[in-house]
Amino acid sequence: MRHTAVTIDGPAGSGKSTIARQVAERLGFIYLDTGALYRAAALAVDEAGVDPADGDACAQAARHAGIELERGRVSIRGRDVTQAIRSHHISSLSSRIAVHPQVREALLSLQRSFREKSPLVAEGRDTGSVVFPDADVKVYIDASAEERARRRHEELVSKGFDISYEKVLDDLRERDQRDASRGIAPLVVPEHAAVVDTTHMGIDEVISQVMEVIQEKLAD
Ligand code: C5P
Repeated sequence: MRHTAVTIDGPAGSGKSTIARQVAERLGFIYLDTGALYRAAALAVDEAGVDPADGDACAQAARHAGIELERGRVSIRGRDVTQAIRSHHISSLSSRIAVHPQVREALLSLQRSFREKSPLVAEGRDTGSVVFPDADVKVYIDASAEERARRRHEELVSKGFDISYEKVLDDLRERDQRDASRGIAPLVVPEHAAVVDTTHMGIDEVISQVMEVIQEKLAD
């Protein structure tokens, strides 16, 4: 069965995870964090000692990792990796392996399978353009690179990671560049998506704006 799908795409640090999680809760839909799946695949690649430049080997590691995502917890082969996938190293590695078509293909059916179980809010880079092109509502969240780096830096420091703002900004720009320029499923504003720029907005304001867009579209 094809349930209702709301997609929220955007670059790293745009606030889309917080927004998607809260919007899903308000709608009573499940929240699908597709970035977490890429991160889990990256951790599996790392642990297997696979060369991140080798697309076939990365896809093989991702396929055999037994990735599961349930109620916000991510696991590989039954081991909880929810925290481990949030490190700076895995952020960077996930965007390196995400350039391989074989890796994207390996994670595609897993992402789509969530919609068979329940209505969902999916969040990522290509959820509106590739994973659920027929989604009922598509939203694209953006913010300036400096503001996104500021938020990401704050988040990493609060989790105990020791890293400078400049390093976060540099890495974020590099990741943006890689995500937007890759040949397959690049980060784009999906057709018919509502674009929300959160640079000068507080989270509550963004959420009410996004909820308005969703309710309007779902009422159509
Ligand atoms: O959203 P998050 O920062 O957790 O995603 C980690 C990385 O996974 C991104 O930088 C991107 O390269 C990749 N990704 C992707 N497509 C998605 C979600 C994430 O390529 N739908």
